[in-house]
Amino acid sequence: MSLEGKTAIITGSNSGIGLGVAWELARAGADVVLNSFTDTEEDHALAEKIAKETGTKARYIKADMSKGAECRALIEQAGACDILVNNAGIQFVAGIDEFPVEKWDAIIAINLSSAFHTTAAALPMMRRAGWGRVVNIASAHGLTASPYKSAYVSAKHGIVGMTKVVALETAQEPITANAICPGYVLTPLVEAQIPDTMKEYDMSREDVIKKVMLERQPSKEFATVEQIGGTVVFLCSPSAEQITGTTISVDGGWTAL
Ligand code: NAD
Repeated sequence: MSLEGKTAIITGSNSGIGLGVAWELARAGADVVLNSFTDTEEDHALAEKIAKETGTKARYIKADMSKGAECRALIEQAGACDILVNNAGIQFVAGIDEFPVEKWDAIIAINLSSAFHTTAAALPMMRRAGWGRVVNIASAHGLTASPYKSAYVSAKHGIVGMTKVVALETAQEPITANAICPGYVLTPLVEAQIPDTMKEYDMSREDVIKKVMLERQPSKEFATVEQIGGTVVFLCSPSAEQITGTTISVDGGWTAL
C-alpha cells in the first residue's frame, strides 16, 4: 500500500513512538512532518535521514504542544495534513493529594488539549483534500487506570472520548478517527520511569521491568515503536476505511485481564 502524495504530521516525533510512527509512514510513502518543542540540529537531521532513506519529503517543524496557538500554527505551517497523528505526551507520577498543579496542567495540555487544537486546524484541510485520517496515540491507560497517574489517565481517557466525537462528526465523510492504545513500549518516556521505580520498590532494573512494568502485560514483552507505526499505517489503508471511532490495543493482552 502506498501513501504517496499524502502528508502526515506526527506531534512529538523527535523520539520514541512518534519517531517510529514517522519512519513507518515514510516507509509507506507519506511525506512526514516531525515535531517537538525544541529546534536543534539533531531534530532537523532526523528529518533529513528519513527523507534520504525513504525518498520522501520529510521536514521538522518546531511547535510547543502545551500551547494551543502553536498546535494550530504547526498544522498551518505544514500547509497540508492528510494524516494527523496526535502523539506528543509526557508523564508524571504522584498521589493525587500531592500531584503538582503545574504537572496536572502540563499533562492535560500536552496529552489532551493539543489534539483538540491540531484536529480543529487539520479537519478543514482533510475536507478540502477529500480524505483524512486522525490517529490519536492514547494508551492502555485510556481504557484502564493505575494509581499515581491521575493526570495521565484522565488525559488518555479524555482523548479516547474525543476520538469518538471526531469520528461521529466525520462519519459520512472520507475521514476516520481512531485511537491506538499501547501497553508498555520501551521508549525514553518509559526509560525515565525506571530509576524512580527501582528506588520505590528497592528492586533491580530487570525486576522492575519484568515484575512491575510488565506485570500487567501478559505477553511479558514490550511492544515496539515499529508495531505502533505499522498499526497507524494499517489505519491509513483501504482495509480500515470503515474503522472509525474505536480503539486498537497494542498491549500484549493488558486490557484482556
Ligand atoms: P517519548 O518521551 O519518547 O516521546 C514523547 C515525545 O513528545 C517526544 O518527541 C517529546 O519531544 C514530545 N513532547 C513532549 N512535550 C512536548 C511539547 N510540549 N511539545 C511538543 N512535543 C512534546 O515518549 P513515548 O513513550 O514515545 O510517548 C509517545 C506517546 O505515546 C505519548 O503520548 C505517550 O503517552 C504514549 N504512550 C507511550 C507508552 C510507552 O510505553 N512508551 C505507552 C502508551 C502510550
